[in-house]
Amino acid sequence: MKVDKRKVVIVGTGMVGMSYAYSLLNQSVCDELVLIDVNKKRAEGEAMDLNHGLAFANSSMTIYAGGYGDCSDADIVVICAGVAQKPGESRLDLLKRNAEVFRSIIDPVTSSGFNGIFLVATNPVDIMTRITCTLSGFNPRRVLGSGTALDTARLRYLLGDYLKADPRNVHAYVMGEHGDSEFVPWSQALLATKPILELCNESGDEGCRGRFDEIEEEVRTAAYKIIEAKNATYYGIGMALTRITKAILGDEHSVLTVSAMLRGEYGQRDVYVGVPCIINQNGIQRVLPLSLTEDELDKLGRSCDTLRESFDGIF
Ligand code: NAD
Repeated sequence: MKVDKRKVVIVGTGMVGMSYAYSLLNQSVCDELVLIDVNKKRAEGEAMDLNHGLAFANSSMTIYAGGYGDCSDADIVVICAGVAQKPGESRLDLLKRNAEVFRSIIDPVTSSGFNGIFLVATNPVDIMTRITCTLSGFNPRRVLGSGTALDTARLRYLLGDYLKADPRNVHAYVMGEHGDSEFVPWSQALLATKPILELCNESGDEGCRGRFDEIEEEVRTAAYKIIEAKNATYYGIGMALTRITKAILGDEHSVLTVSAMLRGEYGQRDVYVGVPCIINQNGIQRVLPLSLTEDELDKLGRSCDTLRESFDGIF
């Protein structure tokens, strides 16, 4: 991994791709940033716009609209490209079209000689990450998705607010599919080193457990609410992708809930799903198996079954 020229390529310069790019620039995360989109003019306009902000940034980043050949020496290729659902189109048909989009992206990226890490944001992110792994033939440890990283951030924000504590001292995760079958393993939720369920029991507040359930539901439905209000979500995911990128480029060994291939962990295999992982310069250094209860393991199992079914429907 180079430290003198950290290079990121973004494929798909829509709202998500560009929120990520803007966040990368403001946090000075890389030295070279390449923007690729099927709509070349859009990528060129975005590169111009970002470059004009450089004079106000703390970084001397090189930013340009490029082509797949530029992936050859990249550290990370981040895929935010996708097509929107057509009226009346089924979820499976949308998935099939996005699989075709990915075919048109992954083949030229790998043909360039790219030997870095794939990071995927396109939804349904767990399935699209597995597709990326299959199409690229890369070691699954070098292919990850944003998974439940954003959901976990939403959970910590809401729990911090309820517990009147800094969300950074809340250690709790959203696991499973980035979608309807995701869940919070409450047995593993801590404030500093104190189990949150114990805090709840000791508080004498009858409504405490009910509030946790509401928070879990709020996290699960957050994207629907934002989309209803403003048609799309992008700032939060842009910052989540930036956090994952920093962990990779900085060889941080940070624990983040990304979409990772399970190979026996939690009794599951052949599925990409959101689980806490240690992230370093090689991508997923390892999946960190939490001590889930039987009930939580069942929830994870059901989420994995849903994801396997969707994948089998398209491949
Ligand atoms: P958008 O429509 O604004 O942008 C998509 C971009 O992809 C467009 O610029 C389009 O030209 C480009 N594109 C389409 N086909 C392409 C191809 N074959 N090659 C290269 N580029 C291509 O959409 P958005 O709001 O930026 O969302 C992008 C994706 O991110 C969606 O799938 C969305 O659901 C997903 N998303 C994920 C999360 C998450 O937590 N993982 C959160 C929000 C959005």
